[in-house]
Amino acid sequence: MALHFWCYFMFFILVVFLLLWGFQIIFLEKFYDRMKTSDIQKVAAHMLNIYGTENYEETYDELAYDNDLCIVVVDKYYRTVYSKDLMGNACLVHGFANYTSAFISQIRSSKTGTICGDIMNEHIRTNTLVYGTVIGTMDNPKGYLLLNTPLVPVGSTEAIIKRQLLIISAILLMLGLLLSIYLSRRLARPIASLTKSAKQMAKGNYNVQFDGGSYLELQQLAGALTYAAQEISRVDTLQRDLIANVSHDLRTPLTMMKAYAEMIRDLSGDNPVKRAEHLNIIIEETDRLALMVNDILDLSKLESGGLALTPSTFGIRAKLSEIIDRYRGLSAKTGYHIHFTPDEETMVTCDAGKIEQVICNLINNAVNYTGPNKQIFVRQINTPNGVRIEVQDTGAGIDKENLRMIFDKYYRSENHKREVVGTGLGLSIVKAIMKLHNYSYGVDSTLGKGSTFWFVIHQDKKEETHHAGTGSH
Ligand code: ADP
Repeated sequence: MALHFWCYFMFFILVVFLLLWGFQIIFLEKFYDRMKTSDIQKVAAHMLNIYGTENYEETYDELAYDNDLCIVVVDKYYRTVYSKDLMGNACLVHGFANYTSAFISQIRSSKTGTICGDIMNEHIRTNTLVYGTVIGTMDNPKGYLLLNTPLVPVGSTEAIIKRQLLIISAILLMLGLLLSIYLSRRLARPIASLTKSAKQMAKGNYNVQFDGGSYLELQQLAGALTYAAQEISRVDTLQRDLIANVSHDLRTPLTMMKAYAEMIRDLSGDNPVKRAEHLNIIIEETDRLALMVNDILDLSKLESGGLALTPSTFGIRAKLSEIIDRYRGLSAKTGYHIHFTPDEETMVTCDAGKIEQVICNLINNAVNYTGPNKQIFVRQINTPNGVRIEVQDTGAGIDKENLRMIFDKYYRSENHKREVVGTGLGLSIVKAIMKLHNYSYGVDSTLGKGSTFWFVIHQDKKEETHHAGTGSH
């Protein structure tokens, strides 16, 4: 990993180095010439502007000092009007002598009235930049402006820069190495450690520590992985619990069935009354068993997607009345009372059988967990969003911690009643069916007062597209 980082850094440094080299060495002279030319043009333009104004000579003096310039201004009769000669031999233009006349004739014969170029100054054996321009127009010249500035030989500068570049490159290489080591510590090591921990998690060690080091994003990843490990561990425990619960719950009826079958064989076989009683118990236990096995099969089918919805359109109010009527027998026998508050009849389109199962599961739970007053309330509430169905009990309620988990598979709270047939799958089936239909569902619960389980049969197809997560099939 460290090597990777190092390679990237070296590549980066190489690019920087090439760029620096290119710009500093190869183009240095060109840059310098161009810069000088543009400077001298600017100064000349400024000079032309102020030429002839009051005290312009003073400004010319300043410009000459600031820009290392030799300046000559002659009038149209070639008489020197102004001259500044700061650099002795370095100047090609002094008064109307030497090169000056040659330059002026060049200006005269040029098309633009301007000349600009570098010339070898034999006195000092370096190049010098000469700029000349006409004052006024070519047809009617007022005079001529000549500027001259020495060009510093770039060669020596180049040597200095080359040496500096070498030193910079060495420093960059060192820095790159250090930085790659540092980054590999901060990034690569934590990643390697996370990978190791993830592998351990895959082996089933859910208590493994994920350490993200000091890098924020890696810390977040470590947090997410720790969360995943906890969740997997929870599901794993639930699954193990299920096997324990289910085998326990399955064993009870099986034991009973075996015991009563033996009793019939050994004792009550000839006694029709006793035999009938024992056979009835066997039948009841078989029913219990079938119910549980069905629950498990249903859920596994629902969750594996093996169960398709078969939608039909029916009146929800009639359906609710029909289901609650079925509980009348139970009410009469056990003293439970189911109060039904209907709303106007509404046609809904959904899988009738599955919705019925949801309602039954909710009512069964309400019956199982309601308080001693044995009152249960079922409500149909038509809302603009769809038909909301509520099943309320007056039991102990569910505390916040459990509330989060009751829809989870195999989850059974501690107050789960043994005598109640249940695998902890009822609400998971509700959840699976709701998800298949894409309906919203939930539970509101107050400790000591009871719980209200609800779901909404969404109907409006248009609503469905506007409100993600709601709507029917
Ligand atoms: P089961 O009832 O078979 O245990 P469920 O999936 O139906 O399984 O319910 C899961 C858990 O949720 C139950 O064990 C119980 O603790 C809790 N629960 C469900 N319905 C109610 C209710 N109406 N009041 C209080 N607790 C409930």
